[in-house]
Amino acid sequence: MTYPRELIDPIILKNKEFDLEGFVFGNGDFSPDIMLIGEAPGEVEIKTGIPFTGRSGKELDKTLAIAGLTRDQVYITSIVRSRPFGRKTMIDKTGQKIEKRPNRMPKQQEILLHAPLLDYEIAQVKPKLIIALGGCSLKRLIDNKMTISESHGNIWHGKIKQLGTDSNYVPSQHTYDIFPTFHPAAIFYNRKIESQLIADWEKLKKILAVKAI
Ligand code: URA
Repeated sequence: MTYPRELIDPIILKNKEFDLEGFVFGNGDFSPDIMLIGEAPGEVEIKTGIPFTGRSGKELDKTLAIAGLTRDQVYITSIVRSRPFGRKTMIDKTGQKIEKRPNRMPKQQEILLHAPLLDYEIAQVKPKLIIALGGCSLKRLIDNKMTISESHGNIWHGKIKQLGTDSNYVPSQHTYDIFPTFHPAAIFYNRKIESQLIADWEKLKKILAVKAI
């Protein structure tokens, strides 16, 4: 999807005030029933320009297959479209100081900065079902108080958060079905959730059959 320049240009300009780099557009079917919303791109994604093409993308493909889905049937995007990075100074083998820039979670201000892009995509795609990948996506879409561990694997229906006129979130005009599940990268940090993650996508397969999506 291409975004209107007047929407994207101020965001790319303001990115410079944060530790954010690159820019990845949403990707996938033009009028899909299902939209997947992740957190933010990583190093691989800002090179390929395609969401979920790194390590977590391989995990995402496996889970999509469990639900009987392929990438060309869905639209994939993230709440923040640039890579948030941290700064770590290290000493290399030669004793030289080097700066590492590891991935990190997006901050609230960064999520707010990119909010008009996500709102625009949701309005364009009009998905029948949104899959929120991970806690950041869930909190951005529904409520900061919600957690993935409590809400994964169950459809939530209602108005979602959209950017209002005063840099605040307001309820959307339309209601949506949201299916929250773990971010595909979550299993790299906690293998114990793997069975729950698989169960979510198996359940999703059944939900899609009932909803005829
Ligand atoms: N995580 C995300 O949320 N999006 C990507 O594109 C890659 C990793």
